[in-house]
Amino acid sequence: MQVKIGLFLILIFCGFTVFGVQELDSLQLNCEKKPIKSLNFEDLQWMFRERVRVESQDQIPTHLAFFIQDVSGIKSQNYSFDTTLINKENLFALSNMTDDPLLVWGKTLAQEIENFKTLKDSLAKVFNPRGYRLKFLQSERGLARQMDLFNRGRSMTALSLHNFNLAVDVGIYRRGRYLRRSNLYERLGSMAKDLGAFWGGDFVGFPDVGHIQAFSNGANLVQKFPELTFEYVRFKEIYEDNYASALARGRVDLVEDTRQLIVELNKNRAQKVCACKQAIPIPNELSAEWFEQFKGMSTGYVFANRQAGWVYIKNGNSGYFYPLGVYSFAAKN
Ligand SMILES: [Zn+2]
Repeated sequence: MQVKIGLFLILIFCGFTVFGVQELDSLQLNCEKKPIKSLNFEDLQWMFRERVRVESQDQIPTHLAFFIQDVSGIKSQNYSFDTTLINKENLFALSNMTDDPLLVWGKTLAQEIENFKTLKDSLAKVFNPRGYRLKFLQSERGLARQMDLFNRGRSMTALSLHNFNLAVDVGIYRRGRYLRRSNLYERLGSMAKDLGAFWGGDFVGFPDVGHIQAFSNGANLVQKFPELTFEYVRFKEIYEDNYASALARGRVDLVEDTRQLIVELNKNRAQKVCACKQAIPIPNELSAEWFEQFKGMSTGYVFANRQAGWVYIKNGNSGYFYPLGVYSFAAKN
């Protein structure tokens, strides 16, 4: 017996020396199935966001109903869309119920948006070559429109700074005619940079000379406003796929912004409660009647049973069970 314990200790010891120094991969966050000590409604907001696919934009819920089952029974919380209720508690709920990030995050970003507006005004003043005119084209954009541009290859990102009114497309015109190409864009870009903005002409791999934005990239924005992780996180798989395919082509140089964004999102989600990726069968303890309680609910809803270790996430007609877990970084290999 003693020998066995000794051997066991040696194994543990080796384990520590081998794995203790193991470097973690900041690009790979996994939801590990684990007993959860406590759960709150914010955790459920995140699970809903992370598990409900972006493609189902036509199924944005108008109401959300959340349930947490624990030793003491079942607690529930209902949310409905009301932009007059934008406070910290409602921020995530409201964000789950709209296509327009500005409706929800406009308040958080008000100062940045205002600063960017001032910057645009300054730019319009300093850029005035004789015979040319500068026009600000589209600035604000909804999620569905961005997704459409992205799917058609017209935009390289699933969530753009345009969605936050922190980017603008500019056109240079000569005698009323829009100039697609002109080296004046370079001059405009350098003026924008002098004012503290970032120029699309500097984008690696897909320069966009008629684009100016307030932050160097999404990672930068999330760094300054960590709560925006909530908005970005549902696109994470898209970003990860893009990164993986660039990696496979040996072109990670083209996706540096994407890499930074993934790292930033992962950092903000590590150690948080999650719904694990692989759906599981309906838990045995549930009868057909259990589902009856949701009948007639036209909402999105989440039911988490903390002790049993599962969560049921439903939006529109599709609902799935997932194991509850905690996010942790994968070891670098
Ligand atoms: Zn643009």
